[in-house]
Amino acid sequence: MITVAKTAGFCYGVKRAVDGVYAEIEKGNKIATLGHLIHNGQVIAELEEKGVKSYERVSDIPKDCTVVIRAHGVGEDVYKEIGERQCIDLTCPFVSKIHKIVSEHYAEGYQIVIVGDKNHPEVIGINGHCSDSAVIINDKNYVPPPELTEKRLCIVAQTTINKDFFGEIVQNIKKTCKSTLIFDTICSATKDRQKEAEELSLISDMMIVIGGRESSNTRKLYEISKRNCPETYHVETVRDLPAKKTHNKIGITAGASTPGGIIEEVKKAMSENVKNEENFAELFEQYSSKTLNNGDIVEGTVVEVRSNEVIVDLGGFKYNGQLAADQLTNDPALKPSDVVKEGDTIKVYVVGVNDGEGKVVLSRKKVINEEGWIKIKEAYEEGRTLEGKITKAVKGGVIAITEDTQVFIPARQVSGRFVQDLQSLVGDIVNYKIIEIDDRRKRVIGSVRVIIEAERKEKEAKFWAEAEVGKKYEGTVKSITNFGAFVDIGGVDGLVHISELSWNRIKHPSEVVKEGDVLEVYIKDINPETKKISLGYKKAEDNPWEIAKSKIAIGDIVKCKIVRMLPFGAFAEIIPNVDGLIHISQIADRKIGKPEDVLSIGQEVEAQVTDVNWDDKKISLSISALIPTKIVEDKKEEDEVPLNAETLVYSTNPDVEVDEKIEIEPAEEEAPAEEAPAEEEAPAEEDTPAEEKADDAE
Ligand code: SF4
Repeated sequence: MITVAKTAGFCYGVKRAVDGVYAEIEKGNKIATLGHLIHNGQVIAELEEKGVKSYERVSDIPKDCTVVIRAHGVGEDVYKEIGERQCIDLTCPFVSKIHKIVSEHYAEGYQIVIVGDKNHPEVIGINGHCSDSAVIINDKNYVPPPELTEKRLCIVAQTTINKDFFGEIVQNIKKTCKSTLIFDTICSATKDRQKEAEELSLISDMMIVIGGRESSNTRKLYEISKRNCPETYHVETVRDLPAKKTHNKIGITAGASTPGGIIEEVKKAMSENVKNEENFAELFEQYSSKTLNNGDIVEGTVVEVRSNEVIVDLGGFKYNGQLAADQLTNDPALKPSDVVKEGDTIKVYVVGVNDGEGKVVLSRKKVINEEGWIKIKEAYEEGRTLEGKITKAVKGGVIAITEDTQVFIPARQVSGRFVQDLQSLVGDIVNYKIIEIDDRRKRVIGSVRVIIEAERKEKEAKFWAEAEVGKKYEGTVKSITNFGAFVDIGGVDGLVHISELSWNRIKHPSEVVKEGDVLEVYIKDINPETKKISLGYKKAEDNPWEIAKSKIAIGDIVKCKIVRMLPFGAFAEIIPNVDGLIHISQIADRKIGKPEDVLSIGQEVEAQVTDVNWDDKKISLSISALIPTKIVEDKKEEDEVPLNAETLVYSTNPDVEVDEKIEIEPAEEEAPAEEAPAEEEAPAEEDTPAEEKADDAE
């Protein structure tokens, strides 16, 4: 019978360091370790193959390499030497704790005593936290010299030493030293491993201790085992195993730096040996009590996690099972180490047992698919929302993984909007509901859209319950058309008509807004039945006519620019978007055939405001009003200026006194009345430029 110690193999600190280094290798980072990462030749050789070299001194490490501090830790002087260099500190947290104890008590004046091997890198590192002043003891018969007996002692242990050994030395010190502060810093992993080696070696008639020759903790295991079981062997790999020999009970343990794979190999090799032994019947009984058949679902313990597969102990079955990485999970992005770790108990499906090759092929996917399917079905029946990670885009949709089960989400269901590039969704975590399930074909269809739609409806209902004319919202422009912009005001869209977007004349809404813009809008009108919402955007205070009202009064002389001309007069812009009409009769001090005879587009003129009608947005201007009376009188004498009735003539010349209102009869060739030149009273539509038609709408 072969028993492998449960505590055999990588301890927490070593595994952490090895995993840390392999993680850096996977990232493609250039790294170098300060000393061998662990005391195991195979692992060191493998790392070197991957380009990770070890150096004894920081100064030897190439400048382009990140310095890796191994689990043993280093002294303060080494940290100083590393300085600003890139560094990954993989010191085991249990060792770091000793560093802290030592440096604090050293600072308080204690004499530091380390029980351990002075040449062990961990002890060298610890000593480096008290300026290399520690007394290092590795002899259980040690007698403290007189100069030590008066000092206050702080005693710590190398993490991997034998606890009895530590106890004996401490007792010796306490006999003569007056003040001792003792910290049992032996790592529990070490204690447990040693305890188990002790127990196992007591009941075994052969012990195999696996680990590097340099590994102190492996040597300690060997010593303990040898004490109880004379036939104890220290091996590094399967190649060091002793020649085949009959034994009833073989115990195997391993040091903290021994990879699980080596332990497995040794175990297998020893199994081969014991197969033909005298107690074959007993072994056969043991093995045959556990049989495996294709299609069985069994629980196993993960004994090793490799990059491409996981080795599973099938609980007493003669062979370990092999679980290929692609049979571990449905998520192709995950590595085996992302899914399981050594010691995990997992359920596996037995795909095939090959006694001839001693091989058991396993699948976890089959189990999780089955279990996941049950959960998916429950969620469907209960109408529950599920969370899934989109792992790939396929024809017509995407695949999301939930409960390790693949769920197809059709393209039109992946979002509340059309998604052109489905690949862009890969990696997203989405909430969805199952909308279709095919139990027989184990196919399931999900929809993100139904959730978005439900949320939208909820928001919509809330909106209509609270909406009222005049209510203000902060909305986002969803889309733009020729006639306006649709703005999302919290679950519903309203239209801001083009005329509502700006006080200026615009030809297209895009001159003012773009999709995604956030606007402050208010409800101008709502129709709950047709669900139509008209939104206002323009602010009254920006209304140019309101501005004009505050600035312009009858009698004012204004500077304006001729912007368009019609047979009955010229329109002049007084302020942006506010035009006044200079009737043809008010353009010059004489009769003119058409405005163009005197004016041109863009010309800047001075004119007097002769009338305003703010309600109808009409301003009447006169240029001739600013022409001195004399000239007007001259014109009158010539009887050539058929001025309109009610025309007032003023002089801007201070030398000319004007004290009468001149009444003039309308001329026969009468132009449209001055009061009528509002744009809506302009000549027939076919003669009116499009721009002016827009004005009419105002
Ligand atoms: S034996 Fe203990 S202290 Fe040492 S590396 Fe392992 S876990 Fe850390």
